[in-house]
Amino acid sequence: MWVYLNGEIIPADEAKISPLDRSFTFGDGVYEVIPSYNQELFLFEEHLQRFKISLAKTFIPAPSELDNLENILKKLHVKNEYHNQSFYIQITRGVQDSRSHMASENIVPTLFINSQKLDINPYRGNPNKEGLRVRLEDDIRWQRCDIKTTALIGNILSMHDPSLETVDEILLHKDGILNEGSKSNVFLVKQGKVYTPSLNQNILPGVTRNFIISLLKKNNIEVFEEEISIDSIYECEELWLTSSTKEIQPVAFIDDYKIPTKKTEQLIWTKALKFFNPY
Ligand code: PMP
Repeated sequence: MWVYLNGEIIPADEAKISPLDRSFTFGDGVYEVIPSYNQELFLFEEHLQRFKISLAKTFIPAPSELDNLENILKKLHVKNEYHNQSFYIQITRGVQDSRSHMASENIVPTLFINSQKLDINPYRGNPNKEGLRVRLEDDIRWQRCDIKTTALIGNILSMHDPSLETVDEILLHKDGILNEGSKSNVFLVKQGKVYTPSLNQNILPGVTRNFIISLLKKNNIEVFEEEISIDSIYECEELWLTSSTKEIQPVAFIDDYKIPTKKTEQLIWTKALKFFNPY
């Protein structure tokens, strides 16, 4: 396995980052995950733009290598050989000699990239495969979930609670209103209409979310970006999750509640998955 660290592509076991990197001590960094199919980066410009926005919102200066990111990812793709890969790209505020909340003036950002094999969405070949299992939980995260930060303990905490059952995803809600998954955006179909939480809520502006909204609109399927109450998810006909590595995947169970099944040809998510074709 090869990785990129501060200017060099090197074997993963030779990569060394100081424990005084602020991402280690403060979770002080931002990241992106970009898929690549058949050596072709998918929605690269959209991911790069969101990355730059995350940097600007956290006041982390963009390293100059970011201008060359596409080339770096292409080189890493060749090195790591898998046909389809997902790239994890992290920029931290950098390393400083002593731990202090305020970063030192001359601090230099760290840029780290690795890639892993990206499995094809199993629902593509088999839309009848049983849908995912999710759990509803209060959204305990900070108020800036629009920023893709490496500090994700609020997202992952309850997955590690041994008293809770393992599920595929956790759906986060605040004051009875659905926000997003802990690692995905959410869409719902009710009385034949497609809804997704609005970007005015405390959610990540998912690249996949945005792309799917535009694909559906292009195909004359309207998408309502608005508040979705927790109660309404028990009245929905479909619930799907979207992300750069999941594409679109359906949910079957919300805790013990099973979403009523429909014939595949009546489902909107299967249509959306057909429109969404990165291969
Ligand atoms: N929300 C959260 C909290 C996420 O972690 C992700 C995946 N990174 C998404 C939404 C989906 O975003 P994208 O489609 O850009 O992968």
